[in-house]
Order: sequence, then C-alpha cells, then structure tokens
Amino acid sequence: MLNERMVALGTQRSVIRELFEFGKMRAAEVGAENIFDFSIGNPSVPSPECVNETALRLIREMDPIVLHGYTSAQGDPGVRQMIIDSVNRRFGTSYGPHNLYVTVGAAAALCCCLNGICNPGDEVITFAPYFPEYKVFIEGAGASMKMIPADIEAFQIDFATFEASINEHTKAVIVNSPNNPSGAVYSEETVKKLSAILEEASNRYGHPIYLLADEPYREIVFDNAEVPYLPHFYNNTMVCYSWSKSLSLPGERLGYVLIPDKMEDFELVYAAIAGAGRSLGYVNAPGLFQRVCAECADITADIKIYETNRNILVKGLRDLGFHVVEPKGTFYMFPRTLEADDIAFCEKAKEFNLLIVPGTGFGCPGHTRISYCVPTERALRSLDAFAKLAACYK
Ligand code: PLP
Repeated sequence: MLNERMVALGTQRSVIRELFEFGKMRAAEVGAENIFDFSIGNPSVPSPECVNETALRLIREMDPIVLHGYTSAQGDPGVRQMIIDSVNRRFGTSYGPHNLYVTVGAAAALCCCLNGICNPGDEVITFAPYFPEYKVFIEGAGASMKMIPADIEAFQIDFATFEASINEHTKAVIVNSPNNPSGAVYSEETVKKLSAILEEASNRYGHPIYLLADEPYREIVFDNAEVPYLPHFYNNTMVCYSWSKSLSLPGERLGYVLIPDKMEDFELVYAAIAGAGRSLGYVNAPGLFQRVCAECADITADIKIYETNRNILVKGLRDLGFHVVEPKGTFYMFPRTLEADDIAFCEKAKEFNLLIVPGTGFGCPGHTRISYCVPTERALRSLDAFAKLAACYK
C-alpha cells in the first residue's frame, strides 16, 4: 500500500502545468509568438554577470574536492559569514553565521521551519491570496492550514477575521510580501498591527506563534516601495529567503532561513530547523551555488523589464475595464475576472491564446493571476487578445 497523499500529489497536475501543456500544444498550431503565456513564474531576465563569472572562476580556481564536496549541513561557514555580512549591511542588524541555515531555496526553507516547529494538531495560518504550495508544505509537516480570506481592496490583511481565527492550536503564520500572486507589499502599518496581534496571542496562549516571512521577491519592488524587515518588528520571525527570483536562479535551488537571536529558545529552534533539514534528506544546499550566491548576495538582476510590463498591463487592462490593484512588486498581478467564475473566465481566455491562472487555486476566486515575466513586446501584443476577451463580456 502506497502513501495515498503522495500518490495524489504526484499525479494531480497543477492548473499551471495544465496551462503550460496547453500552451505547447497551441504553439505548435499557431506559432509560439502568438501564445500569451502568463502562467508560470519563471524569471525572464538573465542572471547578473556576477553569477556566471563567479561560477566560472570557482570552477577554474577552487580545489574541486572542496568545491563539489559536502558542506556543513547548515551551509559552508565562509558562505554563511558572507551572506550574513550582506544581511547586516542591508538591514542594520548584527547577526552572525549562527543565525543562518542555508537551504535548497525558499521551498526547503519553509519546509525546514514547518517541520521543525509543527506537531500533529497544530494550525498554520495563511492569508489569501496565497502561494498554493503552502498547503502542501504545511500538511507535509503534519499540521493543518487555516486560510484567512483576502482583503480584495488592497491585498493587505483582514485583521478582524485573522484575530478571530487564532486559537491555542495556532503554531505559525506565513506571510509573503511582496506577494505571489497579488504583487502587494505589506505596509509598515500592516506589519506593526500583525506583530502586535501575534505578541498578544502568544502571551494569551503561553507559547510563541512563529511568523514565517517568505521573501523570495524581497528585491523585486517598484516605485521605491519599502519592504519592512519583519525581525525588526517581531522577535519570533523566521525569514525564508531565496535567490530564485532576485538572481534569476530558480533551477539552482539556493536560499536560507534566518533565525534571530531574539527568537524565544533560539538554540532549540535552530536545532529543530537543522533536524528537519536532516530528516527531509536535504544534507546540504548545492555547494557551488552556495558560494556563488554568497559572492553575489548584494546584487539583483536587472528588473526594469518587470516594471515596464507592469505599467503596460495595469494601464492596458484598466482601459479595458478590468479592476486591477496595482502591484508594488514581484512579476505578478491579480486583476478581478470579468465574470464571477474565474475558472470559466480563464478557460474563455484560452480561446484568445491567453494563458492566465484562476484565482481559486490561490484561495481567492473571482481573480486571475497574470505572470508578466515575459518579453515586453509580448506584453504589448497581448492587449489585443485581452481586448477580444473583454469584448465577450460587454
Ligand atoms: N514562495 C513563493 C511565494 C513563491 O512564489 C515561490 C516560487 O515561486 C517559492 C516560495 C519557492 O521558491 P524557491 O524556488 O526559492 O523554492
């Protein structure tokens, strides 16, 4: 008898994968340039030069036995020092390498945190619209997910519902700002209110409620938006970071968990996260890219194209009658669909070779996610297809 949960996870194709397959089929019929594939969140700008230059230099110059060998489970000590120096420069902190656990991307960072802290019966709160893998990660850690419906006016937090949802089983809250899929950035006011509620609830229930700050899009912001650094506001914060998007390296799988010294029972929490990494079989994050990311930690890929595409699509879609909350970061936007049934709407969009993802999968029906990490000329040409789609609802 197999593990039924795993069989289901391995056989159910995600909506995004379905769209991807559909796109390939249509591309063969009408030409790839006529498919407006806004389905997948794969960065479309190349990694900065520093990435390839560093990788090549390390391959040429470093002792291959060391370069390709196992590293410490928590990350090579020199690498952790370089990364933490960069964190301290950027956020005015004074952390040390002992605050860092290097991981196989943000996904592994989240899984290590969740598996490290959760016991059966625990609940983890997420805010819609949320990254669908959270449910998989939370349930994989033996806990259950409690979703707070979206604040669809600004994609901040519906605090009344959030406060009413916290109980003695609440172990953690996951936030993702800049947000996939809405592109929203949590304001300082939101972060302060969230922290105060968590502080009060932790005291009330006599155990810490951890805040997991999922931050793969931290650097991808527009209009000089400030992304508050959550450990400044709440001590029991674990920052789950990744270079997948900031350095356009999703295939290389590098990220980290940052655990501040001020975390309650810091040493035990760090040990639990390291234990989870061990039990999940990560061993260590990829050695070459640990070193590459550490050397390039202060650098971000050229993200201008994302901002250009955002501006084109926000204006273009609004002119066509769409309601769009302007994204302040990421390369996603999350407009309302022109009919209540977002799944039917995205099905209709396929008739015009527009591949967009229904909001239902993000816990927010009546919306659609547009991943605008595409060439700008494609974003521009897509407006004609969106116009044809909108005309169906006039
Ligand atoms: N969290 C969010 C919100 C994401 O959008 C993604 C990837 O798209 C991840 C986590 C996983 O990122 P990584 O590639 O670093 O595992």
